[in-house]
Amino acid sequence: MGNRFDITVVASDSIQSNKYISLAIDEISRIEKLISSWDANSQTSDINKNAGIKPVQVDKELFELIERAIGISKLTDGAFDISYAGMDKVWKFDGSMSGMPSNEVIKASVVKVGFKNILLNKEGSTVFLKLEGMKIGFGAIGKGYAADKAKSLLIKMGVSSGIINASGDMNIWGVQPDGKEWKVAITNPLNKNNAFALLPVNNGALVTSGNYEKYVVFNNKRYTHIIDPRTGYPCSGISSVSVFAPKAELADALATSVFVMGKEVGLNRINQLPQIECVIIDDQGKIYTSNNIEIDKL
Ligand code: ADP
Ligand code: MG
Repeated sequence: MGNRFDITVVASDSIQSNKYISLAIDEISRIEKLISSWDANSQTSDINKNAGIKPVQVDKELFELIERAIGISKLTDGAFDISYAGMDKVWKFDGSMSGMPSNEVIKASVVKVGFKNILLNKEGSTVFLKLEGMKIGFGAIGKGYAADKAKSLLIKMGVSSGIINASGDMNIWGVQPDGKEWKVAITNPLNKNNAFALLPVNNGALVTSGNYEKYVVFNNKRYTHIIDPRTGYPCSGISSVSVFAPKAELADALATSVFVMGKEVGLNRINQLPQIECVIIDDQGKIYTSNNIEIDKL
């Protein structure tokens, strides 16, 4: 997925553990083939190629992933939107931008974006993107989904404890061989090599979205690579969002969503969801947490 996956399993010997790890890798590769929008032969590319032309029949698995993604769009008032992929590339984060684009250009960049134009037909298992040029992409949810699938496969095989680490997004089950619970670190966004807190995780996922890799600065304001699909403007003010949830898929999608929604709306929304917690660090290094989280600050 253009992402590094590290897999840890607790097993009786290394032959067993290597077998489990290859099964998990096969599962992640299988999902990548289904959801990648880079692979011209994936079902996702087929949907995109037929935007504005015709509905495309897809596997139940992909259909249901899209259905859940639209559910998250509704939950976040469109802050999360897999059709973000149809946005014009107005923002470049490689140092090549010389100034802020005009309001008109920014506004026009999102005309092909909007989850309400993703039309699903359950009986036929078809997906239709209503507007020509529309596209969907799973950049903010696919890693989490693949991690969940690999984890549930390993649990089904009898693996009692393990960690799927998808480029820093941690999906955990069971306890360490000595019986202690796993603890996950949250990176300090103001100093990438330092952890700022540890969080015990028994069964669930901790996913972080950060602004410290790709951004541009105009008039002393830093804009990140996560863009509000409703306005075309990149987010500012937040350095990192970590979301804890029972499933990595939801944690992944919500971390991106909170970035877009901002501190107040984001925390408010998270506090209404059972079993979901969140830690936000703003660009001043100030920490905000949801109501029911306890972190051991380092
Ligand atoms: P990372 O991939 O660095 O862990 P995220 O999980 O936050 O970061 O995902 C960011 C990616 O999600 C972007 O690179 C893009 O592919 C996609 N994306 C950006 N904005 C949105 C959005 N508003 N809704 C859904 N996906 C988005
Ligand atoms: Mg995400």
